[in-house]
Amino acid sequence: MEKAYSYRFYPTPEQESLLRRTLGCVRLVYNKALHERTQAWYESQRRIGYSQTSSMLTAWKKESELDFLNEVSCVPLQQGLRHLQTAFSNFWAGRTKYPNFKKKHQGGSAEFSKSAFKYRNGQIYLAKCKEPLDIRWSRPIPEGCEPSTVTIRLHPSGRWHISIRFDDPTIKPLPVTDKAIGIDLGINSLVTTSDGNKVSNPKHLKKYYRKLRRAHKNLSRKEKGSKNREKARRKVARIHAQITDTRKDHLHKLTTQLVRENQTIVVEDLAVKNMVKNRKLAQAISDASWGEITRQLAYKCRWYGRTYIEIDRWFPSSKRCSNCGHIVQKMPLNIREWDCPECGTCHDRDINASKNILAAGLAVSVCGASVRPEQSKSVKPTAMKLQT
Ligand SMILES: [Zn+2]
Repeated sequence: MEKAYSYRFYPTPEQESLLRRTLGCVRLVYNKALHERTQAWYESQRRIGYSQTSSMLTAWKKESELDFLNEVSCVPLQQGLRHLQTAFSNFWAGRTKYPNFKKKHQGGSAEFSKSAFKYRNGQIYLAKCKEPLDIRWSRPIPEGCEPSTVTIRLHPSGRWHISIRFDDPTIKPLPVTDKAIGIDLGINSLVTTSDGNKVSNPKHLKKYYRKLRRAHKNLSRKEKGSKNREKARRKVARIHAQITDTRKDHLHKLTTQLVRENQTIVVEDLAVKNMVKNRKLAQAISDASWGEITRQLAYKCRWYGRTYIEIDRWFPSSKRCSNCGHIVQKMPLNIREWDCPECGTCHDRDINASKNILAAGLAVSVCGASVRPEQSKSVKPTAMKLQT
C-alpha cells in the first residue's frame, strides 16, 4: 500500500538557494508549457500533449537566455509537465476548471522521483545537494521501506515541507466486521452517523479564525510592495497552516475510528453539498473539512479492506422518513427535528438523513455487484427507487 508522510525541514543556505531556484524553474516551465498549450488551442485548435511539451523543454534548455534551467535537477521540471498534463486531463473530463498560471507568492513544489534523490542511512539526499536535508522526523519511516518519490514544498508562510512517498507492506486489512454506517456531513454537526453520534468541529478552530480575521485586516492596511506587507502576508499564511494542521489532526482521529469500527461506510456525493453555496465562514470551514473527511475515508477504506460508497447526488436524504419511507414536500434548513406525518416517528434531522444515506448506499452496493462498473451510474436511480 502506498503511503506518504510529511515532515518539516530546515534547508542550509545553499540548499535553500538551490531549492528556490528549482521551484522558480518548475514554475517557469509549467507556465511556459501552459502558455504554449493555450496558444496552440486558440490559434489552430491543436492539442499539445505531455510528450510535445517535454521536447519543448529540451529546446528551451538550449536557449541562451534560459540557460539557468540547466543549473537545477531536470526531474522536477519533467514532473511539473506531467502535473500540467493531469490538470488538462481533469479539465477535459469536466472535473476541474482550466489550469491556472503558477504564481511566486504561492510558494510552489518540486517532485523528485527515484532517480533524483537518494535515501541512505535514514537520510534524504537531493540531486545536486551534498548534504542531507535536515528533516524533523516526527515519525519514522517503517523499517525496510524505500521512498519512491519525495516532494519539496515551500509554504507561502516561508516554511519548508517534504512529503515522502513509500510502499508500506505492513498495512494489512482489518478483521472483517458486519457493521455498516451512514454519514451525514453538515454545518451544525460536522459529522452525524446513522448510529446516532454527532461530531462537531474542534472548539479551538474558532480561536484561529479570530486570529485570521485580525491578520487579514492588518494585511489590507499595508502598502503594496512594502516589507511590512510581506511580513503581514506571511503571518496570514502561517495562521492558515495552523488551521489546516489542527483540522487534519482532528479529522484523522475521527476517520480512523470510523474505518476501524465499520466494514461499510456510506457518504453523500459532495457535489450535492456544494450546490448550497454560501459565502459564510461556517460554510467555508465545513467545505474544507468535508473534502478532507471523504478523502481520508476513501483511502483508509482502501488500506484496511473496507467498502467505501458515495451515493448519488439526487437522493432526498433529509426529506425522507427513514422509518416508513414517506417523503415530505419541504424540509427547510432551520428545522432540526420533525415528526413523520405518516408513521409518527420523531426524527433528529441529521440522524434521519444519515440513516437514509446508509440505506441508499447498501442498496447501491447490492445492485452494483451484478453490473459492470461503468454502468454503475445508470444503476443508481433504480437502487434509489427500491428504497423510496
Ligand atoms: Zn415515517
